[in-house]
Amino acid sequence: PSHAVSTNPYTGETIRRYTYHTDQEIKEKIELADRTFDTWKNTGLIERQHLMMQVAELLQKYKNQYARVMTSEMGKPISQAEDEVEKCAWVCRFYAKNAPSLLKPEIIHTDATESYVRHDPLGVILAVMPWNYPFWQLFRFAAPNLIAGNTAILKHASNVTGSALKLENIFLKAGYPEGVFQTIIASSDQIPTVIDHPSIVAATLTGSTPAGQSVASQCGQNIKKTVLELGGSNACVVFDDADLDAHIDTLLQARYQNTGQSCIAGKRFIVLPEIYDTFLSRFQDEVQKIKSGDPMDRDTEIGPMATEKLAKELEDQVQRSVEKGAKIVLGGTREGAKFEPTILTEVEPGMAAFDEETFGPVAAIIRAKDDDHAIELVNQSEFGLGASLFTENIEKARRYIPLIEDGAVFVNDLVKSDPRLPFGGTKISGYGRELSRAGMREFTNQKTVYIK
Ligand code: NDP
Repeated sequence: PSHAVSTNPYTGETIRRYTYHTDQEIKEKIELADRTFDTWKNTGLIERQHLMMQVAELLQKYKNQYARVMTSEMGKPISQAEDEVEKCAWVCRFYAKNAPSLLKPEIIHTDATESYVRHDPLGVILAVMPWNYPFWQLFRFAAPNLIAGNTAILKHASNVTGSALKLENIFLKAGYPEGVFQTIIASSDQIPTVIDHPSIVAATLTGSTPAGQSVASQCGQNIKKTVLELGGSNACVVFDDADLDAHIDTLLQARYQNTGQSCIAGKRFIVLPEIYDTFLSRFQDEVQKIKSGDPMDRDTEIGPMATEKLAKELEDQVQRSVEKGAKIVLGGTREGAKFEPTILTEVEPGMAAFDEETFGPVAAIIRAKDDDHAIELVNQSEFGLGASLFTENIEKARRYIPLIEDGAVFVNDLVKSDPRLPFGGTKISGYGRELSRAGMREFTNQKTVYIK
């Protein structure tokens, strides 16, 4: 295709078609980013902090406008889109405030007179981002990286080009020099050439495993670093002593927020025998209450999925699971991009709902024989983004935490990203970390200095 198309998934209307930039136009943008890097890296930290605070102000001031762009392009409920913009303002403020301590040289005592590690920026970073959190995915990368002195080129998902252009506009409006942050409108076929450009020093990608494989291979050819965040199939273990009164809403939110289209959503609910029936009946009651509808309505909790294609893929995963013995106890039907909140029971390894990432409002309920079996099931996945354990016995949770292979374990809460905590996976969920100190340093030259 020669165009990126934005379609409102709720109404099916085409919002706009955007012509892809030519390879030459993209090359010019990369070169501008590279020239800008030379001045940007020497711009004082105070100025970089100030600009990031300006971005936070703009995000808050125009929150509703930005939220509407996201909701119209990918269908997330408007109140959740506004929360997303708020969270972006938070990550900007967090890094603006903490950059001096996060970037401070680390003194290491050796036999030298002076020895330390500096955190110098690397250059132009390519960010390939997905449509599910069009603002947050980008800010999670951009806030730490622009403050660290890098410049960035964003290739956003083709269905959210309006959001991508808004993002570019926010940085310009905040007063960033042109070239610190630019959006390219590009098809994925154009990305290998982008990666080959000598001025691109590294790439970060959030998206599917095939997209990650492609970008990482091309970067590998060029010895360019990558950070990959490739989705997951998080388990939520409901132990017999879980406090359902306290946590049923959290369990619901873990699966159905953002219409189930989140890499860190709880997708596999692994439930112990004694609590199984109570859990299922309460979960089902709550799911029935979820309000589906027009995502622009303030009280809508579930909107359409981002595209009809994705909804069809989810339908296929449900059907394949049912063919292998899973039971639909609620929902299961699709109309266009709209997918009813669904619960599948009797899910087992070997079924799509267990083995694959289900990127939509479908909860897979799995019976565990006992506690050890539950943890085995958690690990019996190619993915390794995060796991949640629901139990009143924190000592038991502590014993199991080291056995879990994922990048994060949350006890009595859903897995969520937080600017203060590292975020990232193991296995085919990818590698590298975003956010926190760890995320800030992924794309810096950790330069060893030794003065004898
Ligand atoms: P993709 O992974 O295809 O899209 C994510 C981003 O990667 C987009 O910007 C996309 O661009 C780009 N991309 C895709 N292929 C390549 C490539 N070969 N080289 C360079 N860039 C590429 O996600 P989909 O929208 O197709 O969703 C499919 C599945 O991916 C979902 O069902 C879910 O399982 C998973 N996913 C995980 C996400 C997460 O948060 N970890 C987010 C989104 C999806 P373009 O749009 O132009 O193709």
